[in-house]
Amino acid sequence: MQARILILGAGQDGGSPQLGNRAGVGPVRRASSVAVVSKLGSVVLLDASPDIRAQGQTLLEWSDYPGDRETLLDAVAITHGHMGHYAGLLHLGKESANTAGLRLIATPSFHSFVASNEPWNSLVTNGNVLPVPLTGQVTIDESLTIVGIPVPHRAEHTDTVGLSIISDGVPQFFYLPDIDGWEHWPDADSVLSAHKASLIDATFSSLDELPNRDMHEIRHPLVRDTVERFSHLTAASRIILGHINHTNHLADATSEVARNAKLAGFDIAFDGLSIVL
Ligand SMILES: [Zn+2]
Ligand SMILES: [Zn+2]
Repeated sequence: MQARILILGAGQDGGSPQLGNRAGVGPVRRASSVAVVSKLGSVVLLDASPDIRAQGQTLLEWSDYPGDRETLLDAVAITHGHMGHYAGLLHLGKESANTAGLRLIATPSFHSFVASNEPWNSLVTNGNVLPVPLTGQVTIDESLTIVGIPVPHRAEHTDTVGLSIISDGVPQFFYLPDIDGWEHWPDADSVLSAHKASLIDATFSSLDELPNRDMHEIRHPLVRDTVERFSHLTAASRIILGHINHTNHLADATSEVARNAKLAGFDIAFDGLSIVL
């Protein structure tokens, strides 16, 4: 069996619709998260979202989820310390799944955030998770390794990485839900073209999406810019636009922004999209 990917959440941290909204643009989206199943059957979760309970159910129901496992996951890898990307760790604790020694793969900066804040530190002291520093290549099993690639993103609590999933020594999938802007990251072209498929930040299509917020405080590349910048890569690499805000018309297949992205060879993420690597 080849390594496989399942997108468990195509939404931004708050999902769509967000709390208190009757509807978001396009289909319901859970908060950003991806499951990886290695060739040898190891299961790794990329980001632990606030929707982790429902996403865990989806994972168990996935036809490619390996049977006869004692635990849901072998490891969780975290991109950064914004709430939509780690709050699901709550459900590993003794009040819930009560995992034992589950590998928690994250940057040293994320681990020091955990060590100095409750309830996260209790997951470590109670033995629910085993902190594994994301430095160099982290081995999941004989077929799969993970590398964290630093990217510029608001560092209020921790630094941020994109996660490179390497199967049999070949970079296969790159998970980059959050970045402040492509212009701040000169390695974008080379990293995206080195991977067979990537899921990248497509949070907003327009600076007018959140009229009550200063969009400069929550910087993300706009989809139009992303499409222009990377369309020359889509013939050779599969680029999936994800982390889609509840206001973003990219999630409406009939919108101009969605049609332009499709025409330029991009995929638009949705909950349940699976990829064979
Ligand atoms: Zn996010
Ligand atoms: Zn973030």
